Amino acid sequence: MRNWIIAGFCLALLGSCSPGAEESDKPVISVTILPQQYFVEKIGGDLFRVNVMIPPGASPATYEPTISQLSELDRSDLYMKIGYLGFELSWMEKIMATNPAMKLVSLSDNIDLIREENPAHLHGHNHGGIDPHIWMSPLNAKIIATTVYRELLLLMPEEKVFLEERHETFQAELDSLHATITSMLSSLEDRSFMTYHPSLSYYARDYDLEQIPLEIGGKSPSPTHMKWMTDVGREKGISLIFLQMQLDQKDAETLAKEIGAEIIQINPLDPDWYSQMLFITGKLVSD
Ligand SMILES: [Zn+2]
Repeated sequence: MRNWIIAGFCLALLGSCSPGAEESDKPVISVTILPQQYFVEKIGGDLFRVNVMIPPGASPATYEPTISQLSELDRSDLYMKIGYLGFELSWMEKIMATNPAMKLVSLSDNIDLIREENPAHLHGHNHGGIDPHIWMSPLNAKIIATTVYRELLLLMPEEKVFLEERHETFQAELDSLHATITSMLSSLEDRSFMTYHPSLSYYARDYDLEQIPLEIGGKSPSPTHMKWMTDVGREKGISLIFLQMQLDQKDAETLAKEIGAEIIQINPLDPDWYSQMLFITGKLVSD
C-alpha cells in the first residue's frame, strides 16, 4: 500500500513514472499457483509483481506457506485466489489476517462450477463438492482473463489503453487455442481417458471427453477401485493414464501394466499454461 501511495506521488509530480520503475515500486499481486502468474502477466505485462504462494513441485492440496511468504503478503494490494484449492481453504483466513487492507478476489466467480453429487467421490482439495481445477480449460480461462483484466485496471486505471489492448490480444489467443483443441480432438473416437488426480474435469466437460480418475477422495485407490479401474480400462481400451508430477507413481504404474496403457506425466501447475494445454491435447490424439 505504501508503495502504491509513492507511485501516486510520482504520477502527480512527473506526469508519469518511468517505465523502468524499480521492481520494488510495482504493485504486488499475490496468487496461489503458477498458472495464475501466466494469466496476470499476459494482461499486465511487467507492470505488476506477482507473488506465487505454491512453489514449483509443491502440492496445492497440502502446502504450508513459509514465514517469509506470509510477510511478503504485507506488500500485496490484491490476492487472487483460484477459489476452492485445499491450500486456500486451509490458509485464506490467515493470509487475509496478515494484511487486512489486501483485496481478495476469487477467480471462480462467474465460472460454471462442477459440483459432484456425492462429495465422497471427489478428491482431497475440494470444498462443498466443488471441483477446484477451473484454470485447466481455455473457455474458463477466458472468464478468468476478464476478471484479471478488471482487477488490474482497478489497480492501475492510468494504464487502461495498455491493459485493454493486452486483454483483447489474450482473449483472441484463447479463442484460437480453443479452436485448435476442438479441431485436434474432433476425430478422436475413444473419448475416455484415465488420470491419477482428477485435474481435467473442466477440460473433459468442455471437449466432450470422459475423465476416469484413479484417486478418490484425495486418497490412493482401494483394491476394489483398482479392480474396477482395470476392468473399465480393458473394456474401454484405455491407452494412456495421466499422472500429475507432484503425485506418487506406484498405483498408476500398476494399473498401466494391467491394462497395457502408457503413463503420461502432466503438470497442471505449469507456469507455461498455454503449452501445457496443447501438450495434454497432443497426448490424447497421438495414438
Ligand atoms: Zn488438484
